[in-house]
Amino acid sequence: MKKFLFADLDDTLFQTLEKCAVRDALEPAAYYSNGSICSYTTPAQRAFFSFVSEGMTVIPTTARSLDAFSRVHLGFSSYAVLNFGGIILQPDGGIERDWQGRMHGLMLAALPGLQELSAHIDDWCARTGYGGRARLVEDAGTPFFIVVKDPDKVALNLERVEREVVLPWIAGEGKAYCVHRNGNNLAVLPRTLDKADAVAWITERLRREHGEIVTFGMGDSRSDARFMADCDYAIIPRRTQLAKLTVETL
Ligand SMILES: [Mg+2]
Repeated sequence: MKKFLFADLDDTLFQTLEKCAVRDALEPAAYYSNGSICSYTTPAQRAFFSFVSEGMTVIPTTARSLDAFSRVHLGFSSYAVLNFGGIILQPDGGIERDWQGRMHGLMLAALPGLQELSAHIDDWCARTGYGGRARLVEDAGTPFFIVVKDPDKVALNLERVEREVVLPWIAGEGKAYCVHRNGNNLAVLPRTLDKADAVAWITERLRREHGEIVTFGMGDSRSDARFMADCDYAIIPRRTQLAKLTVETL
């Protein structure tokens, strides 16, 4: 029976230097657009990746854009889920056009809400003197979600943006949206944008191609939980947001 691993990338298969608990024998895994190293694998992560790559097909399932994904140098050969599920790449690297058409319609319908919230966030930043701002992430001609990063990389500052601006808006006019905050990253997504929907689409296609299959889901964040729960098995790296919320709590 064929086995497939849907794997988140950042903070799951590799991470930035600051987040590496042990700094021995790191190897570069992803790069910034200027060519400098963005993220590293540990020996344990490389051992894990080569072990799973032997027995199953690894399908990256990431919030990264087309451009940021092209700067990940791990070696994948099947489908890929990008932009939180907004884009699916086929095994030949081309964009899956049916999925793109469907997501484009859903995302255009969600755009006015994202623009409204962006304006609220930017007003709040101007009023409070906070240095961050809301950025709309678009890829291949489709707007997907907004992201706020703290300019000083103080993750706790984003907690305030979430509590004072984002959550009240979601509780009121923004019910069709959700927020994910992890480290120095606060993202607000339309509920119609979810990695789990893209994973379900690929899983159905794989079942048509291969018959019965076994699926594994792996990720570090709350935002990965839904697609992981839909897989036959879930794998959670230790010392991550998702591990803290689940197995480490218990
Ligand atoms: Mg992650």
